[in-house]
Amino acid sequence: MKKWAAAVLCLLFLLLSPARELRLASQTGELALDRAIALTFDDGPRASTTSRLLDGLAQRGVHATFFLIGEQIPGNEAIVQRLAQEGHQIGVHTYDHIRLEGESAETVRQQMARTDRLLTDLLGPGEWWLRPPYGQFTRREAAWIDVPAIQWTIDPEDWRYKDAERVARHILQQAEPGAVILLHDIYPTSVDAALAVVDALQEQGYTFMTVEELFQSAEIEPVPGVLYRSPAKPMWEL
Ligand SMILES: [Zn+2]
Repeated sequence: MKKWAAAVLCLLFLLLSPARELRLASQTGELALDRAIALTFDDGPRASTTSRLLDGLAQRGVHATFFLIGEQIPGNEAIVQRLAQEGHQIGVHTYDHIRLEGESAETVRQQMARTDRLLTDLLGPGEWWLRPPYGQFTRREAAWIDVPAIQWTIDPEDWRYKDAERVARHILQQAEPGAVILLHDIYPTSVDAALAVVDALQEQGYTFMTVEELFQSAEIEPVPGVLYRSPAKPMWEL
């Protein structure tokens, strides 16, 4: 009798387990899609801090978005190539970190073109989205660019506090699906905060995406010359 009971249990388990696994997988998939979030880093690359961040992101299987300052690319070519090879999105943070608001069309175009050229020489042709320095950018300047511009929804002011614990706590309190987090990969404390945030949010079922992937997962087509806080939050009417 005991052997019979064991055989029946075994059979039941075999019959039921594939369905159960499938159901679990689909639940995880839905959860991952619902809880998508993007880490973005400005003002790099910087050899020491950006490399350590990339090591940490690679260990955790996370893709992020890096808005680079053009004049910091020469001398850091290997890091820029590593960013691309490891699946991160690369964008432009102007050539020398100028405030674009109020500038002439010529200046805005030059700031984009000089940085675009450096990236294209290194990585081949691509579309490099813009993160305007200080987030300051209006429809007037937007008319002169042909890529989407990305602001953020969560700003822990990491450059001001340089305190990993405080910065991580701010981000975790504000975290929500579809959020775009602003950090700067030139401070060791920001690297520590970013990795702590990844560990905590992965635990909660979040999936980290590039900004471009965030748009794709939300099925929103980004419009060139529009400033977005996140895919669902354009700064002006489309
Ligand atoms: Zn900046």
